[in-house]
Amino acid sequence: MGPEAVINKSLAELSRALQSKETSSVDLTRAFLERMDTGQGLNAFITVDGDRALEQARAADARIARGDAGSLTGMPLAHKDIFCTKGLLTTCGSKILSNFVAPYNATLIERFNQAGAVILGKTNMDEFAMGSSNETSYFGAVENPWDRACVPGGSSGGSAAAVAARLAPAATGTDTGGSIRQPAAFCGITGLKPSYGRVSRYGMVAFASSLDQGGVLTRSAEDAAYLLSVMAGFDPRDSTSIDRPADDYVGSLEQDISGLTIGLPRQFFGEGLDPEVGRRVEAAIEEYKRLGVKAVDIDMPNCSLAVPCYYVLGPAEASSNLARYDGVRYGYRAPEYADLIDMYKKTRSQGFGAEVKRRILIGTYVLSAGYYDAYYLKALKLRRLIAQEFEQAFQICDLIVGPTTPTTAFKLGAKVDDPIAMYLNDIYTIPANLSGLPGISIPAGFDNAGHPVGLQLIGRYFDEARLLNMAHHYQRVTDWHKHTPAGFA
Ligand code: GLN
Repeated sequence: MGPEAVINKSLAELSRALQSKETSSVDLTRAFLERMDTGQGLNAFITVDGDRALEQARAADARIARGDAGSLTGMPLAHKDIFCTKGLLTTCGSKILSNFVAPYNATLIERFNQAGAVILGKTNMDEFAMGSSNETSYFGAVENPWDRACVPGGSSGGSAAAVAARLAPAATGTDTGGSIRQPAAFCGITGLKPSYGRVSRYGMVAFASSLDQGGVLTRSAEDAAYLLSVMAGFDPRDSTSIDRPADDYVGSLEQDISGLTIGLPRQFFGEGLDPEVGRRVEAAIEEYKRLGVKAVDIDMPNCSLAVPCYYVLGPAEASSNLARYDGVRYGYRAPEYADLIDMYKKTRSQGFGAEVKRRILIGTYVLSAGYYDAYYLKALKLRRLIAQEFEQAFQICDLIVGPTTPTTAFKLGAKVDDPIAMYLNDIYTIPANLSGLPGISIPAGFDNAGHPVGLQLIGRYFDEARLLNMAHHYQRVTDWHKHTPAGFA
């Protein structure tokens, strides 16, 4: 199989080609590494170690030859640079971790290693996953392959751009408020955020621990099902990991969906939604109705308050999590300082970017003795109300459907000076994080400028199999997910 055939195949197809020895892991890995080299980079990667990747590929080929391969043995994958990788740089998009080589693997990485997958590289991201455009990265912005003047979304922007431009068959990401689903929507790919507790957070650099969840960015729901099957499962090293066996995600893809009910929250279709995005989402809902799915309108009034709620809780947790970067144990340390306190100050002043500092300031403020009740406690109560709204909604529908984002990808630089405008990108994705629910974004067409539109589906707790099944049925009757950006085919 030549490099071109490789580039345009889905992960599921590549897996079958590996098993039947039509191609080898070394050939696959080489094809993707060469593609990165030929100037297609988009700044999607922070670290690529080709020799190490090829060594893993050779080991995988040996395993396939021995006949003890699984569906991901030999599969090259890109990982968001938030997952600790032993012996490889893990920067989290920050200067303060720009020299950090993790001494251990995140559980997610360990699970992929055991499955025999290959680490193609570590992808660019917003600093500490704080952002919706990948522009807060210390390593520079990432370009959107559909329109290189536009952002790829964030914070998993490098992973999304890499998969959309076929620099990797699939990539991992994390989603605290939308960071898998929003870049997936902007880059015309599939992005799955599992339920909170489904995928271990061990070794995943913490941003807001009660919201963070690892997931995947792929070409299709089928590909996501393959990856989730390896990632999902209990991990005693993560105290919020749920002791519950993974479902048969691949086996459930074809299940009948007729007779299911989707709920359409009024609040997801109101003011602020770009009419072209709205039209594409309406068309997708019509498609579901043709597949025998019923649609009901639902009301979720507290969801309109999800963004301010998140921007109290997220920064509060971040201000505590990021206290560990003090220049003492690991990471960057300011080269010159007078004493210990001065070393802390200079290290943190120089090591963190503007958005991270803004979050630390907000978080420290809302947790301070005088404001804790007014902000932090209030936001916790609102979070509970939002979760209850979902519980009520799921009494009358099986899934919730709407747009992933209010607009399609915007121009690089357009929102860097307006944090509120940037934060509003996640208005439809944040409610699922606040409630711990699984969500998926799938491509649903293009706007007039040729920018991809994302359709979001939110499910009940641990209903990943149903989400993937619903997404898969849509992808059987549409081909939006098969389009490749011009110049990357
Ligand atoms: N854009 C949101 C933020 O900046 C969400 C980020 C995320 O999901 N990691 O906080």
